[in-house]
Amino acid sequence: MILSISMPKSSGRFLRKPDFLKSRQSDDAASTEVRTPLDLDEVLEDVEEEEDSDLGELNTALGALVDIFPDVQPDVFREMLLNLSKESRLEVVTEHLLRNGAQYIQGRYRKKPSDDNASQPRHLEPLPKDETFRSDKYKRTVKDTLYLEFRNLSHSSIRAVLAEHNYSYTLARPTLHHLSSKSWRATISSFFTRKRPATSDPDLHPHVEWLPNPTEPSSLFPYFKRTGCTELDQELYRVYIAPVLARQNQERLDRDQALAYDLNETEAEDANAMFDCECCFTPYPFEYISTCDSDAGHFICFRCIKLAANEALYGQGWARNIDLTKSSLRCLAPSVPECQGCINPELIQRALCTEKDGATNWQKLQERVMSENLIKSQLPLLRCLSCPYAEIDEPHIIASKHLEHVQSAGEEV
Ligand SMILES: [Zn+2]
Ligand SMILES: [Zn+2]
Ligand SMILES: [Zn+2]
Repeated sequence: MILSISMPKSSGRFLRKPDFLKSRQSDDAASTEVRTPLDLDEVLEDVEEEEDSDLGELNTALGALVDIFPDVQPDVFREMLLNLSKESRLEVVTEHLLRNGAQYIQGRYRKKPSDDNASQPRHLEPLPKDETFRSDKYKRTVKDTLYLEFRNLSHSSIRAVLAEHNYSYTLARPTLHHLSSKSWRATISSFFTRKRPATSDPDLHPHVEWLPNPTEPSSLFPYFKRTGCTELDQELYRVYIAPVLARQNQERLDRDQALAYDLNETEAEDANAMFDCECCFTPYPFEYISTCDSDAGHFICFRCIKLAANEALYGQGWARNIDLTKSSLRCLAPSVPECQGCINPELIQRALCTEKDGATNWQKLQERVMSENLIKSQLPLLRCLSCPYAEIDEPHIIASKHLEHVQSAGEEV
């Protein structure tokens, strides 16, 4: 038992490249190339250095076959192309598929076109990179990287999963992750070391390290150990680095906005430039105040507008808060007699969009106002089944392009 645990572990370590044997602490002192900060342009620029001519030809043939037989899965073509000699393989494969395709295809049809509306020609998408023939360098680097990443899986199972997914790192990784979280080796190693397996953290990867950014302490800076294959570097960047950077960027923007708001408020207070909302009586700076369009010009704050719009949309306040004739929100100021003014829709949009899901709420508000006005108009209407689009139903006028395709799709279903 002990033997069977220790054997694969030591063999795995033996197979690793020498620089990976060093611990993280030692290699940050020793090598400077590991610590060079990530150069985005260098990683993302499209370098096709390793494609040899045969690979290019194979991929051209594959692309042509995907165009000819758009509903067949590309792995059928890959299989057939690889088994044929270089001369006129495209022609041979085409002929075979036309004569007795079923024998070669064996049910491997693409799902996409049958799920969608059949009327749409969807076959024009180019073949994704994951489905093309990959270079030997890419395959080798992916294999090495995955050996390193999933140390608790046997090399044979990694190779099997890779073969199943056309050696694509992005496609094989979820399966391997699933396997590694369930494998008995993971259970045993986490039992002995009392540590989480390294792969449980989606941001953690042997080639990516996050260190504090010297210029900005609140965010982390990615350090990337190049794999030696540009294609894989780009893939790793997309999987591990880009989402984290995007999240950090959003957090920075949020912090900046909060700071800007605070600064603005302090300055407005100092300059005595605060306006009291006439609904909730809270003082707000000019940027967060709107007025109704009556002669009284009541000040209404953005917060009150948001609350009123939410109540109209999701609560009981539609009839009370929305003026359908002006397609806008009624003035919220509690005046006697009741103010007949409305708030400018542009200001409502600005008020709603200070929140995260504000744009959706604003759209919902507009759509509901529109549809209620259409109902009120009592016109005969033709409606789209999947969006709020509507047009007047007049027998002598042919329905527009929009409804034509929706109706034909509806009949087919
Ligand atoms: Zn208010
Ligand atoms: Zn008013
Ligand atoms: Zn529509």
